[in-house]
Amino acid sequence: MSKFNLSDGVEILKGIGSHKKEVLKSIGISTLSELLYYFPRRYLDRNLTSSVVLKNGEVVSVLASVLDTYLAHGKTSRLVVGVRTPNNERISLVFFKGVPYFKNVFKAGMDIVVTGKLEYFRGLQIVHPDYEIISSTDDGDGLDLIHTGRIIPLYPSSESLKKEGLDSRGFRRAIKQILDMVKENKLDIGEVLPGKSIQKRKLSDRYTSFFEIHFPSDHDSMQEAKRRFAYEEIYFFHLLMAFKVSQREKIKRKLWPLKESQTANKLVQSLPFQLTKEQENSIQKIRMLQQLDVPMAVLLQGDVGSGKTVTGLILALYYIENNIQVCMVAPTEILARQHYHTIQTLLGYAPFIGVELFLGGEKVKVRREKLARLKNGETLFVIGTHSLFQDDVLFSDLGLVIIDEQHKFGVDQRESLRSKGKNPDILAMTATPIPRSLCLTLYGDLNLVTIKAKPKGRKPIVTKWFFEDKRQSVYNSIKKYIGQGRQCYIVYPLVEESEKLDLKSCIDAYESLSMSEFKDYTMGLLHGKMKANEKDAVMHSFKEGKINILVTTTVVEVGIDVPNATVLVIEHADRFGISQLHQLRGRVGRGEHESFCIFLTPFKVSEEAKVRLESLVEYSDGFQLAEIDMRLRGPGELLGVRQSGLPDFKIADMQKDSELIQQALEDVQEFGELGDLEKIEIKNRFWEGRILFSN
Ligand code: ADP
Ligand code: MG
Repeated sequence: MSKFNLSDGVEILKGIGSHKKEVLKSIGISTLSELLYYFPRRYLDRNLTSSVVLKNGEVVSVLASVLDTYLAHGKTSRLVVGVRTPNNERISLVFFKGVPYFKNVFKAGMDIVVTGKLEYFRGLQIVHPDYEIISSTDDGDGLDLIHTGRIIPLYPSSESLKKEGLDSRGFRRAIKQILDMVKENKLDIGEVLPGKSIQKRKLSDRYTSFFEIHFPSDHDSMQEAKRRFAYEEIYFFHLLMAFKVSQREKIKRKLWPLKESQTANKLVQSLPFQLTKEQENSIQKIRMLQQLDVPMAVLLQGDVGSGKTVTGLILALYYIENNIQVCMVAPTEILARQHYHTIQTLLGYAPFIGVELFLGGEKVKVRREKLARLKNGETLFVIGTHSLFQDDVLFSDLGLVIIDEQHKFGVDQRESLRSKGKNPDILAMTATPIPRSLCLTLYGDLNLVTIKAKPKGRKPIVTKWFFEDKRQSVYNSIKKYIGQGRQCYIVYPLVEESEKLDLKSCIDAYESLSMSEFKDYTMGLLHGKMKANEKDAVMHSFKEGKINILVTTTVVEVGIDVPNATVLVIEHADRFGISQLHQLRGRVGRGEHESFCIFLTPFKVSEEAKVRLESLVEYSDGFQLAEIDMRLRGPGELLGVRQSGLPDFKIADMQKDSELIQQALEDVQEFGELGDLEKIEIKNRFWEGRILFSN
């Protein structure tokens, strides 16, 4: 072959016909470059596995080839697959279940990797091993011989790929061909990273990295190659974010919040407390951003109870007083109502401001009127739930969007609100702290402002974990604190999978407790399935102090603020995740009184639940808990399905590569050239955070 280029189609490769070309295209691979970026899922160290001395009781992962399969009939019939290791040891793989299936899977001559625990039963055997087929007999080009005795790559494959011969072996053959062609033709494949990155971070060059990631010489060089590509991926991700920010900054501000606001000053003076330094600093910082001629996008982070609501409200007044509309969304109806009431109370001195609550499920006529008031600008401050995302919600001049508990919303929802105004400012607020590396990748296009400390005088929340046999003494403590004038939450788990049952146990508990244990107290019940006005009435009475004990579900998880409630009991606490427990715990500790958070669980809880509960008992800081949570569950789980904004990194790992994420960001800030983005091809909208490489 003479002249070729990495942007050439895969069909120029030997062995890639039209069928393979089509099936590769279906997984997004059309060019040689795209094929080179198809990285191995994992590796197999043939050297290592073949040199293991097999012993009874040992868990091993070995390469083996299938000798024979037969059905053995004894007390229970079973399938026995005889295999031989490269060291000529024979192992029997035994299957009791799925015999007809496995009989079809294993064919004599096939190479497989077997993982499992060796047992001795008339020879070495493994019962129901994990296995992976790495080749099939009809493929006799001896490629595996080339790679015997080294680390070999295993590629992700699917049934349809395999059907076309694109199993690991097929990919190896194709990719090896490209690398050989590059070498033979002395083709310069160029570099996509800036020279400064390569130097500063001591990254290996592009060709070497491609070679080593597919056909590693040893473990270390494979790691180096992985580090290079992880850096590359993150670098371009940050660069893309920077590009998006620069695009946004080309948009000039249309609506200017006031430089000074009488109503804001008045509000600050009329507050029953003094703003903390942290709150004041955050307001300062955000007001500076408000005065730039480009729309702002801020993520205001602060642990539960740090006082974000009033901070947001003060900032909102700079718009409202200038007749610019502000829209605030909260993830639950209960929270939206609470904000509405808080804001009405706090703005009691300024009744001229049109504040409106906008929820789903309202009468058509009411909704139509509200929509009209929004559209003609009569309503200046609207507070609501998801219902505000709907298409028929139109504003006259929307200047600021406040998103409370931002982590409960998807990124595209944030964007949908933005599109309702003329590039309004965005103030996203969140209490669920996320580890810094995640924050950088997920919210790289937002300015981060943090409220680091809670208002003074807050006592730490005493957190205790008891088994159910202590329930009576927990009840006694509740009575004691109610006796002192405080209030209490008892929270029951409610998860989607067992929603009906969970709800029933919550309602049952409410009924039996109010008839027996707490019959001399006023109890309230609050759950998501109640009618809106019922929920409202209960929340109102609880806030007023008329209810002593509120039995509830996770509907109170975020945002609810009743400072006089100081005892929170969580039933079946083992069923909650770390961040949920932390959020729930944030319902107490909001006032001057000492607060308690009590976990009740059965005697037997899973190991993970134990780690979660012990972490909560030990740590009060949300950031520390977030790190633990990420270690336990990984970034995807941590953020939950709603966070569609999580970038789909192919090789970088948001957890393990947190340092690299930081470094790449510094580099982009220091010497990143937006023009470099042309070296890679970017598809999709930026908030999907996806980058697809090609030359
Ligand atoms: P979060 O940050 O979790 O949203 P909130 O805004 O709900 O917290 O505030 C929690 C509680 O703290 C509220 O009752 C609020 O009135 C009160 N609060 C806010 N700022 C201060 C302050 N500077 N001093 C005392 N209490 C405050
Ligand atoms: Mg809040």
